[in-house]
Amino acid sequence: MPTIFGKILRGEAPADIVYKDDWVTAFRDIHPAASTHILIIPNKYIPTMNDVEEDDALLLGRMMLTAKKLAAQEGIAEDGYRLIINCNRHGGQEVYHLHLHLIGGRPLGPMILRR
Ligand code: AMP
Repeated sequence: MPTIFGKILRGEAPADIVYKDDWVTAFRDIHPAASTHILIIPNKYIPTMNDVEEDDALLLGRMMLTAKKLAAQEGIAEDGYRLIINCNRHGGQEVYHLHLHLIGGRPLGPMILRR
């Protein structure tokens, strides 16, 4: 697991971990885009969304369900929030360990700036 997220999973780098089970780990983004900004990652190494396989279906479901639970815990479920997975260069992916962003706590505006 060559990324900073691998180090976080191994306990070799600090992180504000808010949830962990056998499948996924969730921690606060170091540069939050809103008052709640949590990253939910698989404990197994998957670099990008392109590398997800059929056998990962349950794992992806677990990531989504974790986001739902954490949104409720953070008190942002009713007002709403956004879930994002960036993939590769055009998607703006910076860390190549699959992660789901859970962002909320303010109106987030349009999803994509149109040009
Ligand atoms: P992405 O652009 O989808 O790859 O997002 C990567 C996210 O990881 C960014 O929002 C970064 O702020 C966040 N990030 C990078 N390093 C760390 C870290 N050590 N702890 C928590 N979040 C991080």
